[in-house]
Amino acid sequence: MPQGILAVTEQADSALKNISFEVISTGKKLAETTGGPLTAAILGAGVDAMASQAAEYGADRILLADHEGLKDGLADACIQAVAQLVASADPAVVLIGATSLGKDIAARLSARLNAPLAMDCVAVRADGDRIVATRPMYGGKVLADVSLNGSPAIVAIRPRAMEAVAAQGAAGEVETVAVSLDGSTLSLVEKHMETGKIELTEADVVVTGGRGMGGDDFAVVEALAKALGGAVGASRSAVDEGWRPVSDQVGQTGKVVAPNLYIACGVSGAIQHLAGMASSRVVVAINKDPEAPIFSKCDFGIVGDLFDLVPALTAEIEKLKG
Ligand SMILES: Cc1cc2nc3c(=O)[nH]c(=O)nc-3n(C[C@H](O)[C@H](O)[C@H](O)COP(=O)(O)OP(=O)(O)OC[C@H]3O[C@@H](n4cnc5c(N)ncnc54)[C@H](O)[C@@H]3O)c2cc1C
Repeated sequence: MPQGILAVTEQADSALKNISFEVISTGKKLAETTGGPLTAAILGAGVDAMASQAAEYGADRILLADHEGLKDGLADACIQAVAQLVASADPAVVLIGATSLGKDIAARLSARLNAPLAMDCVAVRADGDRIVATRPMYGGKVLADVSLNGSPAIVAIRPRAMEAVAAQGAAGEVETVAVSLDGSTLSLVEKHMETGKIELTEADVVVTGGRGMGGDDFAVVEALAKALGGAVGASRSAVDEGWRPVSDQVGQTGKVVAPNLYIACGVSGAIQHLAGMASSRVVVAINKDPEAPIFSKCDFGIVGDLFDLVPALTAEIEKLKG
């Protein structure tokens, strides 16, 4: 009989990503009502050192899928490993981050196992023997509770929606599972990565530029993001104009972010944009149009030209930092 929770983690540069700790912590909390064990799955090549990181957040058991074929984190290979770990752990619930990779894996796992899936969830709980997940719908206008009937219940968790809480004195039992990967149809040819770039969905601060940037020179926004240790985002208009890569897009058809601080520069505040940033803790809007809809959705609004205001803000922040 399926039992316990499998938390599927994600890693980069030999460390688990923050979303992994959020997923494990959510599993830990859920296990208080569903019963354990809470198992963390770590996929990659040379992942032994990450087991202790998963244990710190309360995983009772850590399954390592250590395989050269998993080193690039391609969904084609990862789904095979995750399916084998699910078969080995036989969990009642699979938790995974609703990141680009996590969503890909979750959807394929659901199809493979004919198991229920709730995507992009902001809460999850047990109601009797059923798992109930809360997910935003209609661009975040509605929060719907959905019941997952079947096993395992797969829940993809929105990054930064749940708190990562370290567990005191935890030490999980580590086991390496031999996974076999059949010839994947995809292989990585080249990876385009900016070193030191903070991932949008994991960033504590996001500074977004919209059509008001007027071109592909995002230097003022980049400088503000850098001063605050944050990431740069873009509205769809800015992406459609070719000013920023699609990976920077925030919104309904882009990424969902929930930073502590979101600064929207030259963004009007269309509903599709709000859908991607409405869970931000503090929103600051800079727009030269006092009637811009974003001003009704922000905590602090500054009316004016972003090309005057953003550099002034950056200079003040640099001054405060000394
Ligand atoms: C199905 C669908 C999905 C979509 N998905 C997304 C999505 O994921 N993300 C997204 O962002 N949009 C999305 N959109 C598009 C969305 O509807 C808006 O068109 C878009 O968000 C507008 O982008 P913007 O605010 O940058 O541009 P605009 O609406 O053109 O606003 C530009 C703002 O900049 C201000 N401005 C101009 N110059 C300056 C200056 N110098 N200083 C200060 N302010 C200035 C203007 O006053 C204006 O308010 C989607 C639309 C559809 C139909």
